[in-house]
Parts: sequence; C-alpha cells; structure tokens
Amino acid sequence: MFLRKLLCISLLTAPLFAQNSTEAIQRGADLIRTDDLKGDIFFLASKDMAGRDAGSLQDHIATDYIASEFLRLGLKPMGDDGTFFQKMEILTGRPDAQQTTLSTTINGEKHSYTLGHDFTMVRQSIRNASACGEVVFAGYGISAPEFDYDDFSEINVKGKVALVFLREPQANDPQSRFMGTWDSYHAFNWHKIEELRKRGAAAILIVQDRTPRDVKPIPPTSPRPSGQPSYALAGQMWDIPVFLIKREVADQLLAPSGKQADKLQAAIDRSLHPQSFDIKQSSACLAKSYSDIASREGRNVVALLEGTDPKLQAQTIILTAHHDHMGEANGHIYYGADDNASGVAGLLSVARAMTQAKLHPKRSVLFLAYTAEERIFLGSYFYVTHPVVPLNQTVATLNLDMIGRNEDDANWPTPADHNINMVNVLGTRYNPALRRVIDQQNRHEGLKLDYKMDKVDPDSLWSRSDHFWFATMHIPQVEFQTGLHPDYHTENDTWDRINYPKLTKIARLVYLSVAELANTSREISFLPAGVSSTGTPATKPR
Ligand SMILES: [Zn+2]
Repeated sequence: MFLRKLLCISLLTAPLFAQNSTEAIQRGADLIRTDDLKGDIFFLASKDMAGRDAGSLQDHIATDYIASEFLRLGLKPMGDDGTFFQKMEILTGRPDAQQTTLSTTINGEKHSYTLGHDFTMVRQSIRNASACGEVVFAGYGISAPEFDYDDFSEINVKGKVALVFLREPQANDPQSRFMGTWDSYHAFNWHKIEELRKRGAAAILIVQDRTPRDVKPIPPTSPRPSGQPSYALAGQMWDIPVFLIKREVADQLLAPSGKQADKLQAAIDRSLHPQSFDIKQSSACLAKSYSDIASREGRNVVALLEGTDPKLQAQTIILTAHHDHMGEANGHIYYGADDNASGVAGLLSVARAMTQAKLHPKRSVLFLAYTAEERIFLGSYFYVTHPVVPLNQTVATLNLDMIGRNEDDANWPTPADHNINMVNVLGTRYNPALRRVIDQQNRHEGLKLDYKMDKVDPDSLWSRSDHFWFATMHIPQVEFQTGLHPDYHTENDTWDRINYPKLTKIARLVYLSVAELANTSREISFLPAGVSSTGTPATKPR
C-alpha cells in the first residue's frame, strides 16, 4: 500500500518536475530564435507604431501585441479585472513660465527670482500648486541607516521648505562610505523628492552642484527629441513644488544663520555628520503652473507563469522591459528599436521558451512590460506602489532595457567593434548572489559580461531604468544593457541596426538565469550598503 501510494505520487508528479531537467531547460534556450526577436522588433519599431509614446494609440497597440502573446502562451492575466493590463492615469502638461515663481523673505526683506536664471523646474507632478514655509536646511535630504547617516535626525521638515544638496555625501570621494564615487540610490532626485514628500515637506529647493559631473557627451547622429510636454503620474508621486536653485540663491537663504552652502557641504563631506537646522528668518514661496494639462491612460502588461511547488510558488521572479519610447517630435519618429523593442522582444522570447519547453518552475515568474519608462519610470513606480504579487515575496527583478546594440560611448575606452559580444550587467553590487547566478549561466552563452558600471557609472545608467525602484525597496535587482551609442534617442534607432546574434544570446542568458532562479529555493540577499567596488561586502560602520 505504502509503496503503491508512493508510486502513484511519483507518477503524478514526475511529468511536472521532469520538465525542469537540464535537457528541458536547454531545449527552451534552443527555442529562442533570432527570427522571432527580429519579428517582434520589426513590428514594435515600425513607422506605423510612431515611436510608442507612453499612453498613445500606438503604445496601446504595443500593449495589445504583448498581451496577445501572453494570451497565446497560456499565461495567467494579472492586471485589472482579469485582464493583462494594469492601468494608470498619466498627466501631461507644459510648464507655464509666467505662473511659476520663487520668492523669499530673508531677514524681513522680500526677494523674487527668475525662472531659467536663478532656478529651474525638475520633474514633478503635473498640477498647479503653491507652497510657502520656513526654510529648513536638510543636508542631502538622505536617511541611510546602512551608512549610519541621517540628515533628519535633528530636524522636522513637515510643512517646511526643505533646502537640500544634489546627490549624496562624499559623492566624488573614491573612499566614500556611500559606495565610493558610485552613487547609491539615495543620490537621485526621483527618489529624494519622494522621501521628502513622504516626510511632509511642503516644497523642495535642491541646490545646484558646485562642479557639474565630468560626463562626456555622446554626439547624436540626428536630433534628440525636444519640445515635448512633461509627464507624471496622477496622484501623490512627486506632488509638491520642487525647484533646482543656484548656489547663490542657497547662500541668500542661509545668510541669516551666517552659514554658506560651500562650507556646510564641506563640513558634511569631511565628517559625515549631518549639519541640518531650521534657518530662522528665512522663508520661501514656490508656485508651479502648467498649461495644456491632459490625461491619458498608461498600461503595464502583466502575466504570470505560476510556480508548481506549494511551498515556493508564492515566491516570484519578475522579468521586465518597458514598451514605450519617445514618440514623435519635430518631424522625426523615434522608433526605439534598441530602446526598448529589444527588451520587450527579449521578455517575450523568455516567456515563449518557458511555456513552449513546458517548464513548470517551482517558483512563479511574472512577466511585466512597463509603460512610461522614458518619462522617469512612471509605470514601474506605479507597479511597486500597486504590486500584483507581494513585494516581500519578490525574489528578484531582472530588467531588460536596450539589449540590442554595441556600446559606443565616449565615457568608455572600448570602441563599438570590440563590444559586439558585450552586455553590461548593472546593479548586482547590491545583490552579488544574483551576479553569481548570471555568471554561472553565462557559461552556456559565452557573452562578455561587463560589470564596470557597478564601479563607476559616469552616465548614471544604473539609476535610469525601471529596476531602480526595487533597489530603493531593498529587493534584489539587475539590469541588462548593451550600452549607449550615437543613435540613442534618435530616429536612427531602427530595427535593422540591431545586433541580432548578440540579442539572441542575451535573451538565452536571461532565460537560463530566470529558469535557474525559479527552480531553486535559493535566497538572493539585498545588501543595503552593497559590496565595495573591489567586491568585498561593505561593513556597517560603528
Ligand atoms: Zn529605455
């Protein structure tokens, strides 16, 4: 009886788990075909798709294409009301220079400033709003317990105008406790603004850097888009007035305290002790205004391959790529073949391989195509604030953004013809266990995996795509990216310029990595302080 029962169980379960054999997984890799990738990119980056501007008709057609593929593969819809679409409201608008103002009262004296000269707007919500308040100097606007650093320990920004520096302490110091010259996630405005908003700041004044970063421009082969409106999610995200101000303006605001921006910044950078304080006799009023405000529907496309192990199926690997691009501007179509039809094609190829090879992984795999990445990752922000699988059960996210070209970037010495087999792998500095999985799987593909941007990242590429939000939530993440090139964000980013043999290998590597992660119970740790640029885990100070 016992034996028979055992036999029955093994007969029942064998077909399921047998499919995850090495042979089955390899069969899936072989199912990833260059012509499928080519077909996807040809369609998504066609002239008729008009550059897939987020929320446009053509971008919706792209989401229909992705959803119909998920449907064909038998994946489970995870969007709204049983569909594959996770919808969100996106607002567009144009800054109204006349109604966008900054004024201050310092030691009882009133001052007003000029937009474009004394201050500029940074990306924020599309809503007319104004706020006045006492000015509080809040250092870099960063709370980072992993680095034993907290600009908010002695102050409260609630209801006040927060005056903060760009980036993070010791940003140009290779020995910085904050991961050397590599900027941690705390350094980026899109995160910093949200942190300050959540703490109740009424408005934010970000102080311009003393010396701009030394980044070599990549001359475009054709004009990059200009004159487009601003985009933002409707709702709370970035929903306070935020201006970038000249250092002279910061010094005026600080004057009643007898302090100066340069000296405060030097003091923080020297000691890593916050210098935050309320600036008595210093207040500011910010007003922002937009014209031509319009609403549109953005769509993430989301589908699940359910795990089969009762103990592990709640744990999920998320594979992502953004489907939107820059649309049209000034008579140019921004086709976005590399950026990011290539990533969507890669994502679809992994979904096809896993289903057609009949893999039944232990953990679940979520396929997620984001909208509005080009407008500073709006679709992915919407996802992490409206997750369809619990964030604390998310094992890792793998993001594909531009995986079809050969890096040709003046900031790196290697010429494009030496990059034909190279893909950058970004972000594993926070989760080295994920790097080990990818390295191991790459034995099958033989790509040159380049982790250089985990050490130095002059273009800040790591911070510039959808996986970024996951790092801020301490969820393991990685991005595959074949690098910048002169056709980046031009009308020359077309389907016929893609390096298809390399794209095929990258898609296979991603597939193998996802399959490996989904078939184990291995945990991938996120190290908030990362590993040092030499590869050893950074120890928590004190
Ligand atoms: Zn992109």
